[in-house]
Amino acid sequence: MQWETVIGLEVHVQLATRSKIFSGASTAFGAEPNTQACAVDLGLPGVLPVLNEQAVAMAVQFGLAVHADIPEVSVFDRKNYFYPDLPKGYQTSQMYHPIVGAGDVEITLDDESTKRIRIHHAHLEEDAGKSLHEDFHGMTGIDLNRAGTPLLEIVSEPDMRSAKEAAAYLKAIHSIVTYLGISDGNMAEGSMRCDVNVSVRPKGQEAFGTRAEIKNVNSFRFVERAIAFEVERQIELIEDGGKVVQETRLFDPERDETRSMRTKEEANDYRYFPCPDLLPVVLDQAYLDHLRSQLPELPADKRARFQTSLGLSVYDAHVLSASREMAEFFEEVHRVCGDAKQAANWVQGELSGALNRENLSIQNSPVSAKQLGELISRVLDDTINGKAAKQVFQALWNGQGDSADAIIDAKGLKQVTDTGAIEAMIDQVIADSPAQVAQYRDSEPEKRGKMIGYFVGQVMKASRGTANPQQVNGLLKEKLDALL
Ligand code: ADP
Ligand code: MG
Repeated sequence: MQWETVIGLEVHVQLATRSKIFSGASTAFGAEPNTQACAVDLGLPGVLPVLNEQAVAMAVQFGLAVHADIPEVSVFDRKNYFYPDLPKGYQTSQMYHPIVGAGDVEITLDDESTKRIRIHHAHLEEDAGKSLHEDFHGMTGIDLNRAGTPLLEIVSEPDMRSAKEAAAYLKAIHSIVTYLGISDGNMAEGSMRCDVNVSVRPKGQEAFGTRAEIKNVNSFRFVERAIAFEVERQIELIEDGGKVVQETRLFDPERDETRSMRTKEEANDYRYFPCPDLLPVVLDQAYLDHLRSQLPELPADKRARFQTSLGLSVYDAHVLSASREMAEFFEEVHRVCGDAKQAANWVQGELSGALNRENLSIQNSPVSAKQLGELISRVLDDTINGKAAKQVFQALWNGQGDSADAIIDAKGLKQVTDTGAIEAMIDQVIADSPAQVAQYRDSEPEKRGKMIGYFVGQVMKASRGTANPQQVNGLLKEKLDALL
């Protein structure tokens, strides 16, 4: 039997407001426990929430970025449940009238194909506190600093068909929210987390299978691994005559498996009702137009522009537009050197390789975009050859000079293009290599091309890597063939 995987994601994004969604308490990460929760966040009697306008603006900007309908009116509801990290006894959320309606996001896959994933809606809500299990023996610590932090929950349609598509979707969302600057997108700190809904169905069947929901997965890699495990578990279960039950599961990265947490609640378990303390949010057209005018160029537009006006491949355009920092760096390199393809190759090749090796992000690159652009210019105007360029890059990386030009001068890397000088080096190499010359003469004509490599190597060495390789090749061939 052939199975098809069906996946829908609920992504929680912490919005980068300075204060909480309904209070003036700070949202900064990493403070001492319980120093940033005020009476409103704790829901003490007699307090009233006031909606943070910045959170509304950020949610609407996200909606505009994913081509969503923005309803004129949205409403906050109370979702009632008991949990130690939720002292109010309810979470203020939006159940029936979310702030962002249906939209869509385009994802790019490894084979350069693209696919549209529909967004069902996105709603505003408040985050809960945190239960701390480490450091406490037989007890649980409660830190309420996170309580009341604004969250945008983005709910997709079940449009994804593989773990790879799910990861690509999560990356696309990450890239949109960081471009917009509405979240820092830091998954390790929990600024972005997702619930992964997974089901399987026999290939060709239209009806969806029963899904399991894997809660709070907090990295791109874990999303893929959790789905891989879950799909296998469900298929095995069904093939053994069992049935998937609708439940909430937890992913355990240490064991690489998902475990049952609880059976799924129904909406009516939560006794949702409109929050009597908050007015409905009403947005007029002028406000939406104002926010639309503030939108930056978004990843999809950048990608399209990189392809059509810079002539980059789908793959290059996708990689270079994935993060705003990467895109800005690339564009600066391109601006300085004027050659998009070379700029793309250097940023994705030499630079990304070095950054990965030292585990640095592009914001912390020791080589600036301007320096890299100038280095590429020196290759383009034939001041240095490709080999020397790598040496210059390494020197810039190690801080051995401020600019490509300074390093080229200091190290004497200027390319030798003077024919007379190259000929003199060639003559010397030929004179020093009688055995190789004899071998060259005696070999079949079609094998000579390969043998020339030895001589090229010697001449390049004699020039300390500065001779122009094309010239060396051409002149060598002439001189050797004259000896035949
Ligand atoms: P709930 O409100 O109970 O969480 P929803 O219908 O709102 O359920 O769906 C939540 C998420 O689950 C959505 O992202 C949706 O795409 C996804 N989903 C729904 N049905 C399935 C299914 N059969 N298989 C996989 N994902 C699903
Ligand atoms: Mg859900």
